[in-house]
Amino acid sequence: MSEALHMPQPALEDLIAMLWREGFKVLGPVARDGAVGFDEVRKVSDLAVAMRDTQEPGRYRLGQGAAGEIFGVVNGAFSLKPFFFAPEETLLEAKRERRGFKVSEVAPVAPPLAFIGVRACDLAALAVQDRIFLHDRFHDTHYQARRKDAFLVAVNCARSAPTCFCVSMKTGPEATTGFDLSLTELEQGFVTRSGSAAGEAIAAKLGLSAAGQNEVVSAKARIDGCAAGMQRGLDPTDLPRLLYAEAENPRWKDAASRCLSCTNCTMVCPTCFCHAVVDQEELDGNMSRRVRKWDSCFSLEHAHIHGINFRPKIENRYRQWLTHKLAAWIDQFGTSGCVGCGRCITWCPVGIDLTAEVAAIRAHPVKR
Ligand code: SF4
Ligand code: SF4
Repeated sequence: MSEALHMPQPALEDLIAMLWREGFKVLGPVARDGAVGFDEVRKVSDLAVAMRDTQEPGRYRLGQGAAGEIFGVVNGAFSLKPFFFAPEETLLEAKRERRGFKVSEVAPVAPPLAFIGVRACDLAALAVQDRIFLHDRFHDTHYQARRKDAFLVAVNCARSAPTCFCVSMKTGPEATTGFDLSLTELEQGFVTRSGSAAGEAIAAKLGLSAAGQNEVVSAKARIDGCAAGMQRGLDPTDLPRLLYAEAENPRWKDAASRCLSCTNCTMVCPTCFCHAVVDQEELDGNMSRRVRKWDSCFSLEHAHIHGINFRPKIENRYRQWLTHKLAAWIDQFGTSGCVGCGRCITWCPVGIDLTAEVAAIRAHPVKR
């Protein structure tokens, strides 16, 4: 682990300004429309300062937090996903010419992005998406164009939402990898560490001094306290075998009787990557665009091929989602598809909680 440095609160203002000067578009947790999400920040006061979130299954509220606390809100509806894996983008254009047509790739316009206040679970989710889009036989050039120059300032969690379960997924609450700089907020500033050469260079430009021993101890105590107080958990023991064996468990029907198949859980999930590719033709027949859009394994059309639908019932779709996340994903990518951020629990309109569903299946298996 790199040396712990002391960052006084005003230096956060300097960090934001410096990142803009270095050519980044700087985004951070901003309160908008009753929730916190990453949006453009020019100064510290643009952040969700002195606010706290209340989260529980099917409920999210923003309220008053501790005076002067900058990163009091745990996480909002949006992770980093939409910034790298765009919700909708054109991949190709085909234009009619005098003879035939010309097909050209559409490269994304991608200014380098700097994110302030990324939580450990979202860094873990980003690593999962990197594995899918970049580190395989093929890589996604659109994702790569947005991802390659990103600068990530992590914030270690000092409190968790009741919907968080990162400890059981071993993804938080402390950011240990995948960041350029990390911050732990204290009363009078931050303990910061660099996690990359780019982070080290920025820290050097900020002229930070070494953190005092008491600050390092307080920062660790805050993170440890957050981990110890986490209310939810998901027992990962033997999960792939359990879920594959329990394909006929009646709990899938039970979950389906509550599930609206609204797709919210997959939209907010920082790792879900289902998408559809559609051709959009202009009415005059001179231009066609091939567009990639987010899709969801909860949508009926996603399982419609060659005239049949192979997941016609909600119970089929809920089982597919959970079994892919927690079992098949491990076979496919060597990692769980869940990082324990809890968003699918908070943002499910009927409060379906995957940790409770797995626990129920584990408690009442039909195959022993
Ligand atoms: S499945 Fe739910 S808790 Fe897990 S990463 Fe996705 S949104 Fe977060
Ligand atoms: S958010 Fe809830 S209701 Fe909507 S599809 Fe997911 S589990 Fe079903």
